[in-house]
Amino acid sequence: MAVPFRRTSKTRRDMRRTHYKLSVPGMVKCPQCGEYKLAHRVCKNCGTYKGKEVVSE
Ligand SMILES: [Zn+2]
Repeated sequence: MAVPFRRTSKTRRDMRRTHYKLSVPGMVKCPQCGEYKLAHRVCKNCGTYKGKEVVSE
């Protein structure tokens, strides 16, 4: 079985992990109220979608 020849240094391990980041799923600002909302979804703060369509309240 192949085994690593050298121990991965802290620096190399941490450099590898610079790519592991938390990604916030498509957050955009609501054009209506300016709150952050999920893209392509009704704003849960003001209940609008694409301008005016009031869905909740
Ligand atoms: Zn809104």
